[in-house]
Parts: sequence; C-alpha cells; structure tokens
Amino acid sequence: MRARHFLYVAIFLGAACSDNNLLPAYDLTGSALGTTYNITLVAPPDGIDFESLQVLIEDRLDHVDKLASTYRSDSELSRFNAESSTDWVRVLPEFCGMVSAANDISLMTQGAFDITVGPLVNLWGFGPQNRESELPTAEEIAAAKAYVGYQKLETDCDNSVMRKSSANIYVDLSGWAKGYAVDLISTLLDAQNLHNYLIEIGGELRLKGHNAARKRFSIAIEKPLLNNEMAHEIVELSDTSVATSGDYRNFFEEDGRRYSHTIDPRTGYPVNHKLTGVTVVSKQTAYADAVATAFLVLGPEEGLALAEKLRIAAYFLVRTDRGIEDKSSSQFEQLERE
Ligand code: ADP
Ligand code: MG
Repeated sequence: MRARHFLYVAIFLGAACSDNNLLPAYDLTGSALGTTYNITLVAPPDGIDFESLQVLIEDRLDHVDKLASTYRSDSELSRFNAESSTDWVRVLPEFCGMVSAANDISLMTQGAFDITVGPLVNLWGFGPQNRESELPTAEEIAAAKAYVGYQKLETDCDNSVMRKSSANIYVDLSGWAKGYAVDLISTLLDAQNLHNYLIEIGGELRLKGHNAARKRFSIAIEKPLLNNEMAHEIVELSDTSVATSGDYRNFFEEDGRRYSHTIDPRTGYPVNHKLTGVTVVSKQTAYADAVATAFLVLGPEEGLALAEKLRIAAYFLVRTDRGIEDKSSSQFEQLERE
C-alpha cells in the first residue's frame, strides 16, 4: 500500500475560557509556502484596516517564497541551485544570511540539520518532483550523499557571495523557511503597533503579549496515543516561539514501513527511530524550526543530551511498547512550572 498522509498542525491554540469578558480577537488566514497560515490578533488598535494588513502579510510570505522555494524556478534558491559554477557567485544578501544562519545550526547539531540535504530529499520523493514508484537503491543513496554536507557550501555574506564545492550541491531551505517567515511577520506586526498576537505557519508558532482572556496563550502539544487517540500537553506561553517536527505529519508508507520527510544526512535515510515528535520553544522561530528538525534526526537520547547541553527547551515524544512516552529537557520543565 502506498499512501501519503498529511496531518495538519501538531499544535493548536487551547481555547476553552469561561470568562465572558473576552477581548476581541480577529483571525487572518490563507495559504502560503505550500501550507496554511493563521494569524490571530487580540485587541488590535481601533481603526485597523485588516485587508491592507493581510496584503502586507502576504507580501512578506511571497518574499520568503521568492527567496527560498524549491518549487519555483525563479526563486533565489533555485537560481543558486541551477548555478553550475564552483566559484563564488553573487546572491541576495538576505538569502546569504539565511544560508549562513542555517549552516551555523548545522555546526551546532553536528550536521543533523543540514540544508544541503536536498539531493536526498529529492531522491526520497519529498522535493518538488513526484516520488518514483520504487524506493531508492543503496547505490543511489550513496551517490546523492556524496553531495550532502554543509561544509560543501560556503558563504561570505560581507560580500554577498556563496560558493559550492560541486555543481550538484542542492540547497533545501524547507526546514527553515516557515519559521523564518513567522519571524518576518512578527517584525511586521510589531511595526504596525500590534502587541498581542499568535502567528502560525504550517505548525510553527510565534506568540506575543496575551490572549483574549488577558492571559498567556495555552499551547497544546498533540501527543498521539495508540488507536489514533490524542492527548495533549498544555503549556502556557508568551513572547516566544514554538516549532514542532514530527514523523506523523508528512510521510509515506510502503510495505507497512513509514518514511518520514526528515532525512538523516549522515545515513542518507529518512529518520527511523523511536522518536515520533519534538517540540522546541525558543526566542526565534527560524531557530526553533531548524533545531526541532535536528532533534528529530538525532533521536531521543542524543537529541535530549544536545538540548541539555545547549540549554534549549525541548519536549520529546517517544514510541515505546507501552505507548507514547514523553521526555522534557530541563528548560522545558522550567516552562511547565512557570
Ligand atoms: P517538520 O515540521 O516536520 O520539521 P518542515 O517542513 O519544517 O517539517 O521540515 C522538513 C523539510 O526539511 C523536508 O521536507 C526537507 O525539505 C527538509 N529536510 C529534511 N531533512 C532535513 C535535515 N536533516 N536538515 C534540514 N532540512 C531537512
Ligand atoms: Mg520544521
């Protein structure tokens, strides 16, 4: 059997409030970056023009798409990927900044997060082209892996230039772009004098100020149980970002095996261990997005050890014989106590 599943957002806004003295809240929703977005504005200033605000928001989303989409041939990323030269080539300063920041995270995570993973993402059928009917062979995986490695991609952002070690290097910013877009929209809303909001793009969140009940936002982390049931871990958060990487949101199944869209760049294979999902809470959404992917690659033990070492708030859901169990880093436990 071959099926592709999408389970939209792993986190949602815990609603339920009996207080009828709620502040007004407005939702702006739409599609972008191959997913959906939802922005909740709480008690916005009087006279705000939602329509023109949404135009500004979509303009920002389109801007990220034009920089980082693998799905459009005119994006800055596709232009760089199509470049056959192994000399320094000029790129947009913002694109250089994104790549350089992503490479810093690769260094920090021993290459578990790696934006040069593109040839493998494409080979496993999670790129812009449709998946081949056959699974890739060990030879194909080894051949693609030869072009994977963040050290093969250099940036010199003072001069807005980048260099790849081979024409076959293929950069994939999809594990970073949604979080990056959330941060850009957050900056936009701040500049528009909006102080209480929730931004969500494809499951990555940023929270600012308070909710309609004048409290911190209640964020529920989905915890899949046996029999497709769900439990939720609720955390009250504000002025922070939340990103989730999971193997139960975008994957395909073949012969009863599940193939995640998150690839371990070190093996060339989709992640395949007992870790089913990771949620990271951090100041910057792009960072949280990338680090969550890295932890999913590293797995429950190594991932948790790195979260402790880097003092990152992370929540891990691990598949066991007894069902799904959770593990939290010290920083995450701290959040739960606050
Ligand atoms: P999730 O929310 O599950 O992390 P994302 O869309 O944020 O999903 O990121 C997954 C995407 O990141 C994949 O579709 C692929 O394009 C890319 N990717 C896969 N493996 C890695 C990796 N190890 N490092 C960086 N990017 C990756
Ligand atoms: Mg992600």
